Amino acid sequence: MKNVASVIVDVPAMQTDRAYDYLVPEEWLGSILPGMRVVVPFGPRKIQGFVMELKEKGEVSKLKAISEPMDLVPVLNEELLSLGNWLTDKTLCFKISAFQAMLPAAMKAKYEKFFRLEEMTRLDELPDPLPDLFRKNSEISWKAAQEAGILPLIQKQVKQGKVDVIYKVKARAKKKTVRKILPAFNRDQLEGILESLPPQASKQKEVLRYVSDASNEGAPLLVKQVIENAGTTASTIKTLVNKGLLVEKEEEVYRDPFEDRLFEQTSPLPLTEQQSQAIKPIVDVIDQNLHRTFLLYGVTGSGKTEIYLQSIQRVLEEGKEAIVLVPEISLTPQMVHRFKGRFGDDVAVLHSGLSVGEKYDEWRKIQRKEVKVVVGARSAIFAPFENIGIIIIDEEHETSYKQEENPRYHARDVAVQRAETHKCPVILGSATPSLETFARASKGVYQLLTLSKRMNDGDLPHVSVVDMREELRNGNRSMFSQELFDKLQTRLEKGEQTVLFLNRRGHSSFIMCRDCGFVVQCPNCDISLTYHRFSNGMKCHYCGYEEAVPNTCPECTSEHIRYFGTGTQKVEEELTKLLPGARIIRMDVDTTSRKGSHEKLLTAFGEGKADILLGTQMIAKGLDFPNITLVGVLSADTMLHLPDFRAAEKTFQLLTQVSGRAGRHTLPGEVVVQTYTPEHYSIELAAEHDYDRFYLQEMAMRKMGAYPPFYYITMITMSHEDLMKVVAIAEKLSAFVRSRLSESTIILGPAASPIPRIKNRYRYQCLIKYKREPNLTPTLKTVLDQFQQQYASGGLTISIDVNPYMMM
Ligand code: ADP
Ligand code: ZN
Ligand code: ZN
Repeated sequence: MKNVASVIVDVPAMQTDRAYDYLVPEEWLGSILPGMRVVVPFGPRKIQGFVMELKEKGEVSKLKAISEPMDLVPVLNEELLSLGNWLTDKTLCFKISAFQAMLPAAMKAKYEKFFRLEEMTRLDELPDPLPDLFRKNSEISWKAAQEAGILPLIQKQVKQGKVDVIYKVKARAKKKTVRKILPAFNRDQLEGILESLPPQASKQKEVLRYVSDASNEGAPLLVKQVIENAGTTASTIKTLVNKGLLVEKEEEVYRDPFEDRLFEQTSPLPLTEQQSQAIKPIVDVIDQNLHRTFLLYGVTGSGKTEIYLQSIQRVLEEGKEAIVLVPEISLTPQMVHRFKGRFGDDVAVLHSGLSVGEKYDEWRKIQRKEVKVVVGARSAIFAPFENIGIIIIDEEHETSYKQEENPRYHARDVAVQRAETHKCPVILGSATPSLETFARASKGVYQLLTLSKRMNDGDLPHVSVVDMREELRNGNRSMFSQELFDKLQTRLEKGEQTVLFLNRRGHSSFIMCRDCGFVVQCPNCDISLTYHRFSNGMKCHYCGYEEAVPNTCPECTSEHIRYFGTGTQKVEEELTKLLPGARIIRMDVDTTSRKGSHEKLLTAFGEGKADILLGTQMIAKGLDFPNITLVGVLSADTMLHLPDFRAAEKTFQLLTQVSGRAGRHTLPGEVVVQTYTPEHYSIELAAEHDYDRFYLQEMAMRKMGAYPPFYYITMITMSHEDLMKVVAIAEKLSAFVRSRLSESTIILGPAASPIPRIKNRYRYQCLIKYKREPNLTPTLKTVLDQFQQQYASGGLTISIDVNPYMMM
């Protein structure tokens, strides 16, 4: 008898990062299964945990018992459980963090559980005392069931699909419901019941007759409809419910974030020659149930999405499921539309714009196998499908696929891991693949598929690079070069649209004294404060510290203190001054913070309600409007100067993305890129749309610098309130790591992080570069184990990022 459960408990700490054994109470034998969450006693407390496996009672005779289950069916299947272990190993996170990362946020919140009849369940199918209980209440709370000692009985019904478990998250994610009623009798009993009612109850009789007629085989009817169609009132219905003649139930309706929209059905387009060639190997792999990773390398507008759609269709025909990852900011209604248009209600959408409740609803649709395709941002890679037939990652080079908190996973790695288990293909799609991916494709680790032509056979837009130093020398102090300004004006005259792109990073406005150069800094972090116009205040983006803008310089008391940098607001002001007639839509964090506003602004632009769309990163992707004929990049090089070995790659990718917004349809497009470093290869080659040369040049740089894809890297960041302490520990830690790793491994540091202090904590880092380092994982585990434990009480935190994307 397997009556011992090994449980990973919710205490994210090194010392508790292992499975603990608990006894399964008698009444739950056979019902508590791996992948369920349970409540267990842990020291003086009761906490949550995940059941990993069940085993025979071992040596230890005195085991504590599981207090109660939290789920009646597993929330993680076997594959996800082993994926969690893999994730723990790869990212060095706590096991509990790995498992929690796979569940929707609503399930981590506080909630109450209820039981409810499934739609088609009839009361007389249920064992006593359930029919009575469900007659009186449409829902039975878990607590009440527990107190009545009928939980195990109900669980059997859950297993048989007759009863459903509902999580009502307290105040956070309430399910949306509608009220329905159904007859508590069958048709043959109707006449007898009518006779038993007093003659004056004619209204009630009418309702019963109507319900009996209308309710086909006892299917529930909407209360609203009964009131309308039978000409009755809510109170008459209530009376009949109280008499036990009608049963009332609440039924869940999924919150559909796209419910008001109609999705026009689309059908597969006949593929072009190059599309057919690209899709063939994918289809072959699908048909043969093989795992393989493809890089679909195709310029924007070359028809990659159509290939995704048709590959998915093939997978669905085989009765399998599909996961599609799209970067958060590209997950626009336009994008969702393309998938829903093709696969309709088979599609669930998971992105951060949804409320906790909406996300939970979408997740449940996946778990209940009500959908077959999920389109989502990073965490959708954990969709609890059991029969995955394809995983697609669009814009695979996007750094948002890397999670920057524990577990620090990259969705691409998780995708490949899951696809190996499911024996299915992964498609990585991009116009500007990450160096790592393209290198793997060049070596044949991934299979390269190329789409070299744009769908409309149009040429890529012409890009002209403007040297802003030259502009300055010619006396132009404006943020618009003459060329960009002229072209803007022409667009206005012709009634065509322009997208102006401002690279936010490194470009937020800061407050500087013109006389002495003093820059207002955050007192807690070593970073300058960002000016916010609407509050006329300054804010720290790392710790949230705020203060008012000083009138005079705190250093030299000069009054020439003002904000610098070109925030979107400032650009908007200048545009309004220079081109008073232009209608401008500004999109940045300020104008899009409210839910749905992002979409509204884009729709307005698409409908031609503005001439210029001005924005940050968030407008770089997914925009596909036929009337955009000019794209302006106000300053291309801001990202180049970040202390990040991927700076050139990111610049190239961003410029390519942005340029792709112009001339996607019949009108030809043009791009103007303004820069202070026109000679940098990332800018030059982006202007020439030459990824291949960029790749070669950048690979040479990476090789020289011993960076990925030539070396793997791992970064250890240590932080402490006390500078001297963190320096001392960093030295010790680096020395320890050095002593354990091989000669060929390069260890840089310890050195102060590029942002040396955040939230009053001093930060030091140590960068490890290696090609093959079998000792790495054990060494890092030891570091976490020993250093963390030894110094944790003194306030040290250590974070380890394997293959980091944030170098600061
Ligand atoms: P990408 O995903 O590479 O940017 P898309 O799949 O969005 O490219 O294709 C660009 C445009 O071409 C879209 O408007 C799309 O509907 C259209 N398109 C794609 N494939 C075909 C095809 N085989 N026949 C006709 N139009 C197509
Ligand atoms: Zn000053
Ligand atoms: Zn700060």
